[in-house]
Amino acid sequence: MAADARVLFLGSGGARFVVARQLRASGGMWFHFGETQIHLDPGPGALVRALSHVPPLNPRDLDAIVLSHKHLDHAGDINAMIEAMTAGGFRRRGTLLAPRDAFEGDSLLQPYAAAFVERREILEPSRSGYRVGEVEIASSPLHHHAVQTLGVHFQYRDLRVAYLPCGRFDESIAADYAAHRPDVLIVNVLRFEDAMQVDHLTWAQARTIVEMVRPSVAIFQHFGTKMLERDPARLAQEVEDDLGLRAIAAYDGLEIDLATQVAAVRG
Ligand SMILES: [Zn+2]
Ligand SMILES: [Zn+2]
Repeated sequence: MAADARVLFLGSGGARFVVARQLRASGGMWFHFGETQIHLDPGPGALVRALSHVPPLNPRDLDAIVLSHKHLDHAGDINAMIEAMTAGGFRRRGTLLAPRDAFEGDSLLQPYAAAFVERREILEPSRSGYRVGEVEIASSPLHHHAVQTLGVHFQYRDLRVAYLPCGRFDESIAADYAAHRPDVLIVNVLRFEDAMQVDHLTWAQARTIVEMVRPSVAIFQHFGTKMLERDPARLAQEVEDDLGLRAIAAYDGLEIDLATQVAAVRG
């Protein structure tokens, strides 16, 4: 198993109400894969959360910022994080990986900030061969969401970590995640149940996806109000008991040693 692979949750909340009131933070995820550092989905507060973490995470050490889609709860701090990664734009460095429409038209990502990054790459659907430092990156098929939204698969040595961002449930998309056979699957589950059809997973759907993908470790995050009311930790425990895998409900500041968790499940 890979030696050093960690993720720190700079936020675990999602949806407008939770983010607007910061019931849970929305700073995204910061990965260490050996020497390679990647920040995924820098939502509102990402920079403050990174710098105020103990010990602080230094954006100047980032190798890449990856964006699943351009909604505020994922991209609110993207320009601030790019400026921090590039020392206010004075040091052109790093990689920015985002769907095509994040670079176009009505987008939080400002062209002036994008220009500070050394390498900008468009994340195309179902594409492999992206590379950041020691990490190989592939993308999921396009999710059903209001803007172009893509999940990502990280491969670091023999560890595979998948991130399944927001989007409506789709069995063929879930099957595609399963085909990548991730050791760790991070799933955004915003809603507990659905009165109307919205482009987000419900708890039951997220659980179905975990059953289909069967990772060693499933991590739930990006909770809306109704999910928080249902106690995500208790729900994750049910999944763990029923499916015989490690299931974790993320909270703000949670740090997970991915390699160790996967190794513990594999025994
Ligand atoms: Zn979202
Ligand atoms: Zn969204």
